[in-house]
Amino acid sequence: MAQQFGEFTASELYCPKCKTSQPVRERLLLVLPNGELHEFLCAHCATSLGKRTVTGPAVAPPPRGRARHAAPTRKLLR
Ligand SMILES: [Zn+2]
Repeated sequence: MAQQFGEFTASELYCPKCKTSQPVRERLLLVLPNGELHEFLCAHCATSLGKRTVTGPAVAPPPRGRARHAAPTRKLLR
């Protein structure tokens, strides 16, 4: 039995079509503001086997106020 265990990445996933685990191809699906959405495709039949979101220490988006509460404005009267 010569089994190789390298680093465990998601290099193989179970494919329901092939009914066995297959090597996967990762492709960039979408670029999100806070990361990237990657998709895993079966290298054999190109069935989508999963997705993962890669969030990296990329450019942090400025915190846009969804709750736009009014800042307390002080009247400056002299
Ligand atoms: Zn497959």
